[in-house]
Amino acid sequence: MLYYSTNRKSPAVNFEEASIQGQAPDGGLYFPSALPEVEHALLKDIGSYSNAAIAYEIIKPYTGEMIDDTNLKRITEETVDFEIPLKQVKENIWALELFHGPTLAFKDIGARFMSRCLGYFLKNEQRQVTVLVATSGDTGGAVANGFFNVPNINVVILYPSGKVSQVQEKQLTTLGGNITAIEVDGSFDDCQHMVKSVFKNAERFPGLFLTSANSINVARWLPQQFYYFFAYKEWQDKTQPPVISVPSGNFGNICAGMLAARSGLPVDHFIAACNANDIIPHYLETDDYVVKRSVSTISNAMDVAEPSNFVRIMEMYHNETEKLRADLTALSVSDNETRNTIREVHNHYGYLLDPHGAVGYYALEKYLEDHRGKQGLIIETAHPVKFYDVVEPIINKAPTLPHQVSELMEKQKTTIMMEAKAEALFDYLLSF
Ligand SMILES: *Cc1c(COP(=O)(O)O)cnc(C)c1O
Repeated sequence: MLYYSTNRKSPAVNFEEASIQGQAPDGGLYFPSALPEVEHALLKDIGSYSNAAIAYEIIKPYTGEMIDDTNLKRITEETVDFEIPLKQVKENIWALELFHGPTLAFKDIGARFMSRCLGYFLKNEQRQVTVLVATSGDTGGAVANGFFNVPNINVVILYPSGKVSQVQEKQLTTLGGNITAIEVDGSFDDCQHMVKSVFKNAERFPGLFLTSANSINVARWLPQQFYYFFAYKEWQDKTQPPVISVPSGNFGNICAGMLAARSGLPVDHFIAACNANDIIPHYLETDDYVVKRSVSTISNAMDVAEPSNFVRIMEMYHNETEKLRADLTALSVSDNETRNTIREVHNHYGYLLDPHGAVGYYALEKYLEDHRGKQGLIIETAHPVKFYDVVEPIINKAPTLPHQVSELMEKQKTTIMMEAKAEALFDYLLSF
């Protein structure tokens, strides 16, 4: 399988090169040159497949000859070795819980897959690779955990001081070893700006082989298809496929779901559930793509102004917005609606949503009100405990801590403080 750049100026590359490069040199995103068809037998007998076996079947056409079967089996097994249950919340709504991994968010799946692929590609390299990434919260923890102790890889994570939740901070600052956390005296945008300047000036670091681990990397994007198939496996009524609502920020997750559907996974309709950052809902409604600055919300992992992966969705639909609208509805949900949803779903159904899942739930409920008789599921992207500062006052009680968190909170944080200047990061990397 080859991957071409959506900007069509850089040459097409194989999976190994696409995952080491991250973004194409022309600034585009890598996109598969052909969409594989899912085997009919897999869909028909999906109940008899393990999650690891499904993951292997789905990703194999994408990795092609770049990873041998034995290693691909090991990588997919390690990627999905925690439970991913589909829980019924009420008569027509289910939640696919993707938060039982080590850092309690769906990003564990993409980060675990990517780290193991890079580890495999680099195992015979003499040089060390430095993974440089900026995080607004969840990416940092998932990447740190995924790459911890992978030989030949050092990870440097920039995060905005005081602007991530306590759990998120512990997840990226307590591992040590090959993981370095840089605490930037500034915003997430500052962190991202610093990282981007390093990549723009890569020639100033001849001794470093730098790569990124953000969500546009194909090795993080493509494995996100797995759990849409896991959901289908658990889905009771196969004659009536689900409407799937995905809490969306950078649109990598929903784009993977739509890719799975293009490959043959039965899905009734997709909903991109956004918070107040509503460029895409506004675009699909009015045909006007109005660029705005990002605004802060209680579902902070989705505080993205311009979703990078939307170009991949347009690519899938050959830029035909009308066709896209037939498969995808986007809705913007306010913080108040999000809070009310957390409270009501908790009180009525005894199910505790995190703020991102609540955005997805609200959007799905609205859609189902207008489409009676349909059923749907939300992708529950994070554990509510990751956002207990938001959730606790709404339900008036503290969520129970899962073991991943109680052990973590005892650990010691280690960071390097840095002012929000690209030069400061340059100096640090040159002393590496
Ligand atoms: C990253 C994240 C999202 C947004 O996912 P995208 O793929 O960027 O759309 C949603 N919820 C949580 C909890 C996240 O960490």
